[in-house]
Amino acid sequence: MSRVAYVNGRYIRHAEAGVSINDRAFLFADGVYEVIEVYGGRLIDEDGHLQRLARSARELRLELPVAETALRRILRELVARNLVGDGHVYLQVTRGAAKRDHIFPKAGTPSTLVAFAHRGDRAAAEARARAGIKVISLPDIRWKRPDIKSTSLLPNVLAKQQAREAGAYEAWLLDAEGFVTEGSSSNAWIVDGEGALVTHPADSAILSGITRARLLRIAAAKGVKWVERPFSLQEAFGAREAFISGATTIVLPVVDIDGRKIGSGAPGPVALDLRAAFHDFAPVTA
Ligand code: PMP
Repeated sequence: MSRVAYVNGRYIRHAEAGVSINDRAFLFADGVYEVIEVYGGRLIDEDGHLQRLARSARELRLELPVAETALRRILRELVARNLVGDGHVYLQVTRGAAKRDHIFPKAGTPSTLVAFAHRGDRAAAEARARAGIKVISLPDIRWKRPDIKSTSLLPNVLAKQQAREAGAYEAWLLDAEGFVTEGSSSNAWIVDGEGALVTHPADSAILSGITRARLLRIAAAKGVKWVERPFSLQEAFGAREAFISGATTIVLPVVDIDGRKIGSGAPGPVALDLRAAFHDFAPVTA
C-alpha cells in the first residue's frame, strides 16, 4: 500500500505530493501547522488542536483555505486511506504561492493546505517511556512569539540536533534568567518536593501544548497538585521527577539533565502514572 497525502483539494501518492517553489512556507516559513495523535484509529484532542490552529493562523493574519468541518473530514480520510491505527496526522497551512516578496501576496491568493498521516510504533514509544530520556539545556534563542505554532522552527531544529549529538532525546530551552521555558518540541515539567507538578505558564514564551492542558486537567481529576510557574535549571536538577509532554510523546520521563541524575535516576511514578492515565482521559473524536 502506498501512502497518500492531501495537497490543496487532492489526495495524492505521498511520494509525488508537492507544492510550488514559490510557496511562502518554502521561501519564508510563512505558515502554521498542527500535529494530532491518532490512537486506535481515533484523533486525540482534535478540538484543542484545531482551535490552536485557528489561533495561530489569526495571529499571523493567515486565512485557512477550508472550513473546519472540511478539515476534520480530510484528517479522517487520511487516517483511513493510510490505515493508521496508532500514529499522527500533520497539517500545514501556508500563505500560498506568490512571486517572492516579503509583503503579503495580493488578496485572493489561495492559502496552501497540506496534510499527511504516518504510523507510529506503540511498543517503541512504551519502551522509551520505561527507559526514560536524557535532556540537555541550551539557551532559548527563538523569536518572542513561540506561542504561535509556526513552521519557522530553525532554532528548535538546531537545539534538537545538538541534543541528539550529545546523546540526549530533547533540549530544554533556558530564558535569560535561567528558567526553563520548554523543550524544542515538547513542554517541560518537574515534580517538586511536595509532589506537585510545575510547568511554565502558557504565556508568549512557550507553545501552549494541547497535551500539557490535558495533563493539567488529568492531574486535577486525580488530586495531583500543580502550579504554573517558571522553574530554573537548578530547581530541575534537584526535582523529584521531570518529564516532557507533547502529542507525539504524550509523557516521557526525564531521568538525566546535562549529565545529572534526576530523582532516583529512573522514570518517576508521577510521570508514569500520568502517561498511563492519558488515553483514559483525553477526548477522542471518531
Ligand atoms: N512546545 C513545542 C515547541 C512543540 O513543538 C510542541 C509539540 N507540538 C509542544 C510544546 C507540545 O505541544 P502539544 O502537546 O500540543 O503537541
